[in-house]
Amino acid sequence: MLNVLSIDLEEYFHPTEVQNEVDASRWSSLTPRVEYATQLVLELLDRHNAKATFFVLGWVASRYPKLVRDIARRGHEIGCHSYRHELVYALTPQEFRADTEEAVRAIEDACGVTPVSYRAPSYSITNRSLWALEILAECGFTRDSSIYPIAHDRYGIPGFGRHAQVLSTPSGPILEVPIATVQLSAGRVAPVGGGAYLRLFPYRYTAAGIRQINTVDRQPACIYLHPWELDPELPRLAAGFISRLRTYSGLSSVGAKMERLVTEFQFSSLADVYPLHAGRSTVTAQACA
Ligand SMILES: [Zn+2]
Repeated sequence: MLNVLSIDLEEYFHPTEVQNEVDASRWSSLTPRVEYATQLVLELLDRHNAKATFFVLGWVASRYPKLVRDIARRGHEIGCHSYRHELVYALTPQEFRADTEEAVRAIEDACGVTPVSYRAPSYSITNRSLWALEILAECGFTRDSSIYPIAHDRYGIPGFGRHAQVLSTPSGPILEVPIATVQLSAGRVAPVGGGAYLRLFPYRYTAAGIRQINTVDRQPACIYLHPWELDPELPRLAAGFISRLRTYSGLSSVGAKMERLVTEFQFSSLADVYPLHAGRSTVTAQACA
């Protein structure tokens, strides 16, 4: 079964845990790592002939257009990860629309692709911000992968459908592809995800989760990763025990775990796994080649 691999293309100073310590006014003065870290991801995917959806932060597209063009040229889908990496539920609908439109323009300017797949920063489409889906549909997005159907202090919609489903909005339908979870006994749901769960737990945790989703649920799993998670040398900016644990633990193990994942499972982009939801304005990554 073909699973979804998604890469949130951002710098090591963009995660919410880090933004609590480093605000946007300092971003331009920090040592950049995104080109180096993304090359590690691209080379790993090339070695295994795997494709992914890269959810590109507009801020990154504005500063590293060549990097975004290179990702598209290699045949990966170019999606959108907002412009400034702000939590959706912390914005007004007007602010969210402006941020999304600015991100789409930056991505189009960088590589000529109009993204139709969206991922919110820190999975911040929750019950408080479901209005964002209508704005995304209005902006031309046909796929969203921003809902984590778990309970978490910062994100998640417990009880939300665990597999891809088409949601109706007043501006049209949008395919929601939630982050991978497994069903436990007594109605409980556990995150599989990728990211921190891949870093913190043994390889077999993520692998068993994907296997269960593929064989028991008979559905693709949607896994995510950030380029900075393959970069053990990244500057540690997050403060506090929990933030540092969530952000930096297990960094040195991710490269080997990802190699095993793409060897054991087949991965591709949202566009490949859900081609019927391409939308009228889709421009595939290949169009940039
Ligand atoms: Zn992010």
